[in-house]
Amino acid sequence: MSNPSLYNDLNIREGAPLSEIKAAFRKMAKTCHPDSAGPGREDVEKFIKAQTAYKKLLATAVAKNRARRKGAQEREAQPYLWEGRREEGLDIFYSLSVLRPEAGEGRRLVLPAKTWEACPRCLGEGRTLTRIGLGGLHRPTLCPKCEGRGSIDHPTKLAVNIAADQVGRGRIRLRRAGLYHALSGRRGDLILELAWVDRLTKTH
Ligand SMILES: [Zn+2]
Repeated sequence: MSNPSLYNDLNIREGAPLSEIKAAFRKMAKTCHPDSAGPGREDVEKFIKAQTAYKKLLATAVAKNRARRKGAQEREAQPYLWEGRREEGLDIFYSLSVLRPEAGEGRRLVLPAKTWEACPRCLGEGRTLTRIGLGGLHRPTLCPKCEGRGSIDHPTKLAVNIAADQVGRGRIRLRRAGLYHALSGRRGDLILELAWVDRLTKTH
């Protein structure tokens, strides 16, 4: 999104909102449009640049709005409320209040989650060599990128289908969906702690 030169071409500050982008382009069009009275060659070039910038910024803003709306819809449609999250070792615990489905039906939850990969900086070792002094001595230090874990994460979504006969269960364990320790290759579990409710309202 952030492309300073596009904003520059429109003479506005970086990250200006859509309303300002539109206003700036209108202003520019008035003074520099090739059809307006006697624009110089410089003006025409300026206008063409501004037009290109305007189109790009507009397209980005539209795409962003669409993504935001979609995200809001997804959140709205989710049949659960967050109650908390904690970690124990490599296991992650999500506490959720889940809307009880109609009898005989299951529930599908789309949860925020993370995918893990070996840290590209230390290649999963968790440590990097730091040079000390001038003698070419290296000392292993905790990898600053992964903080010694050996793995880094990316946000993703995890869809969990709770079958009709699992509805009402207080705990559902998803094997190997927890934290990842690249050095040992161990993966924790994701444990859902579920409170089944008939209405989704925050109780605290
Ligand atoms: Zn690392």
